[in-house]
Amino acid sequence: MKDTALQVQRSTRQKTAIIEYLRSVKTHPSAETVYLALKKKMPRLSLGTVYRNLDAYAQEGKSLTFEVKGQQRFDGDVSPHSHFACEECGGVQDLWFALPLPKVKKHLSHGASVKSIDVLIKGQCDMCNTK
Ligand SMILES: [Zn+2]
Ligand SMILES: [Zn+2]
Repeated sequence: MKDTALQVQRSTRQKTAIIEYLRSVKTHPSAETVYLALKKKMPRLSLGTVYRNLDAYAQEGKSLTFEVKGQQRFDGDVSPHSHFACEECGGVQDLWFALPLPKVKKHLSHGASVKSIDVLIKGQCDMCNTK
């Protein structure tokens, strides 16, 4: 019994640490980056736990997720914005604009409804371009 209570406590602590870390960074980290950053403070944390929690947060709408260079990336900032991803270094920049909903609707078939808009622009960042 005591063991289970301890485990629940630990997993709640890990969950909180994962979302707090995600909200504190602007790097749009992968699960692996989150894992490596938290592992120092939480040696019992596993990569699987990080994946599971990040995935659950995305499904609950508490984080954004998209793929860059075949890797799933996460964003703790769910306010409407777009992303620019560098296909060379994998760097992600926030773009503070979103497609205007009335314009999007004009292109949709009549009666369709919009739940969310994710814009991911891919290219090469300034640093990779000047290499
Ligand atoms: Zn780059
Ligand atoms: Zn973002």
